[in-house]
Amino acid sequence: MGLEAPPIPKQGVEDSEIYIWVQELLIEEGTQWNSPVVQYLFDSETADLIPNMRISAVAEDRLIWCLTRNGKFSMKSAYNKVFELSLGDTEISLKIPSTDITRKEFWKIETWPRVQHFWWKCLADILPTNVRLSIQCGYINRTCPLCMQHEETTVHVLFMCPFSRAVWMLIPGGPNLIAGSCDNITAIFENWLNLVKQHSLQENCLTTAMIVAWSIWTVRCEVQFENKKASPYTVATKAISFATYITKLNEKKKQKSVTEQENGLAVLPVGAMRKCDGIYGNDLRNGYRKRGNSEQAECLAFLDAVKWCAELQRTHIVLETDLKGIESFINDLQPVISWENENILLDVVDCLRKIPHWECYFVSRNCNKPADRLAKYSRRNRVTSVWFDKLPSIIENALLADDTLSPD
Ligand SMILES: [Zn+2]
Repeated sequence: MGLEAPPIPKQGVEDSEIYIWVQELLIEEGTQWNSPVVQYLFDSETADLIPNMRISAVAEDRLIWCLTRNGKFSMKSAYNKVFELSLGDTEISLKIPSTDITRKEFWKIETWPRVQHFWWKCLADILPTNVRLSIQCGYINRTCPLCMQHEETTVHVLFMCPFSRAVWMLIPGGPNLIAGSCDNITAIFENWLNLVKQHSLQENCLTTAMIVAWSIWTVRCEVQFENKKASPYTVATKAISFATYITKLNEKKKQKSVTEQENGLAVLPVGAMRKCDGIYGNDLRNGYRKRGNSEQAECLAFLDAVKWCAELQRTHIVLETDLKGIESFINDLQPVISWENENILLDVVDCLRKIPHWECYFVSRNCNKPADRLAKYSRRNRVTSVWFDKLPSIIENALLADDTLSPD
């Protein structure tokens, strides 16, 4: 309703504690605000805002956890809050300390979680090499267990050691990956990332490189703790086959998400009624865009579209939305929508019960050209007509070009 924080009762109201739920501020079976009570409890500014709030027909009162978007408690959000409080004013850098790599871009790299954590330790300089451990405990031997000649630093064991160099030489493109200055692990990794950005290095080569280093470390631990014998050839072969597996897995994941989307679009019946901001041309009239965030606007438009279909007693409808959260909520009741908008969608679900056959699809913005064009047209020209049989000419071509209406 436009307030930053939940409203609190005005000073001097002593019995405010008897009002716990929103329901207690409503009359007429929960359809209207009880103005005298609202004005009694809150200051005039808040009391003026409350009557403008939409009252949901079916949503029930519940407690909201303000630290998550969907209003439900999560351990993660509680942990983050406690962490934030414990830090006080200490600023957390977006970058990994002593590097130019942002945390976001690092964790976005598609590889195996274990490999990613390993690299996180390398970049944070907490990989438990013998040199690192001896800094903490003086009695630890600093020698590299693979070559038994040099001190074991992170850069040494992964790149400079004769054993690891032999591994890198057996990897396709390996010599290039470790070329140049090798005295600093951060510089090596930053260089790889830059090469990927410049398209001089393929992303799957980065995945391979990260896996090779991790494989060397794994075998180093086997030598150190289990007295196993290591061979560069075996390490290289295993690393390549694991990297190939991970790359294929990532490709499959990408393909799957594309296919899912295509399948979703293909089953749309020809001539189905399309819900969109434009065809349901009330966007401007109801001033949805002014009522807060775009998710809320979309939810309200969605609710009105469904109500309208119910009024028209349509028996078969197909609903399209370009917000994945709405689609997930409507189809699977997944709590991915912000809690402020949940009650709107609960009303949608309630209203859909009156319609015998309905389907709801997520359509990416790219595939939603007619709706997009019509919405813009409505906004610019202040058109609020409703088209029943003949479609507006401005979207005819867009509809013809729209794959969603093709029979297959
Ligand atoms: Zn060594």
